[in-house]
Amino acid sequence: MSASLKNKSVIVTGASKGIGKGIARVFASHGAKVLVVARNAAEGEATAAELRALGAQASFCCADVTRREDVSRMVQKAVSLHGGLDVLCSNAGAFPSCKLADMTDEAWDSLFVTNVKSLMLCVQAATPELRKSKAPRIVVTSSITGPITGYPGWSHYAATKAAQLGFIRTAAIELARDGITINAVLPGNILTEGLVGMGEDYIKATAACVPLGKLGTVEDIGHAAAFLGSAEAGYITGQTLVIDGGQILPESPAALGA
Ligand code: NAP
Repeated sequence: MSASLKNKSVIVTGASKGIGKGIARVFASHGAKVLVVARNAAEGEATAAELRALGAQASFCCADVTRREDVSRMVQKAVSLHGGLDVLCSNAGAFPSCKLADMTDEAWDSLFVTNVKSLMLCVQAATPELRKSKAPRIVVTSSITGPITGYPGWSHYAATKAAQLGFIRTAAIELARDGITINAVLPGNILTEGLVGMGEDYIKATAACVPLGKLGTVEDIGHAAAFLGSAEAGYITGQTLVIDGGQILPESPAALGA
C-alpha cells in the first residue's frame, strides 16, 4: 500500500464499471478520496456507494467527458468535495467495432472526440488545480491495440489509442514546468463486464494467446495506475506501461507452444 496516496483527491473518469471501477477501487484501498465520473447516474452512484461501503471517501459526478462544461464541473466538484485535486485518471473511452470498408466520417470523428478530445479537455481543466498539489499526476488509459498491436474492426479505435500517446509525450513537456507528470497504462485483454459478455469461448481463445495463460483483472490495471499516480513515481513522465500478461511478446502463435 502506497502511503503517499492516503487522503489524495483522485478523479477517475469512466469509473462506473470496467477498468475505471478497478482503478477507483485500488485508489480507494490506498486511502484516496475518489470522484467517480460517468454519464449513467445509477451505475455511477452505485460504484461510489460500493467504495464508501469499503470505508473510502467517494462521490459520483455525472459528466460527459466530451463536453467542456461537464469536465470543468467535474474538476470543481473534486475540489469542493475533496479539498483539491492530486490525480486525474483519464480512463473513459469507447470501442465500437467497425470494419474499414464500412467506416463513416461520423463513426471516425465521434470516436476521436470520445477517446482523444476528451483527454485534452480533462487535462486542460485539471491542470490549474493539479498545479496546487505537492505530487500532481495524470494517468491515461490507452491500450495495446493501436500503439503496439492491431485487430480487424478497430482501425479507428487503434488510431485513437495511439493518438493518446502522441498527446502525452508533448503534454509531459508542457506540464513538467509545474511538476505534473502524465503517463499511460496500456492494458491487454482485461476481464470487464463487456468482455465477459462476449462468452466463455472468446475468453478461452483469448487467454490461450497470453503467455501467462489468463486475462487480466481490472485491479491489475488499477495497481499500475496507482503506482503511476503515487508520489513515488514522481520522476517518470511521458511513458507507457504495458499490462497484458505478456500478450504482445510471442513472435508467432508457434512461440506459445514451443
Ligand atoms: P467499459 O466497461 O465500457 O466502461 C467505460 C466507462 O467509461 C464507463 O464507466 C462509461 O460510463 C464511461 N464513459 C464512456 N464514455 C463516456 C463519456 N463520454 N463521458 C463520461 N464517461 C464515459 O470500458 P472498459 O473496457 O473498462 O474500458 C475503459 C478504458 O480502458 C477505455 O479507455 C478503453 O479503451 C481501455 N481499454 C480497455 C481494455 C479491455 O480489455 N477492456 C483493453 C485496453 C484498453 P457511461 O457510459 O455511464 O458514461
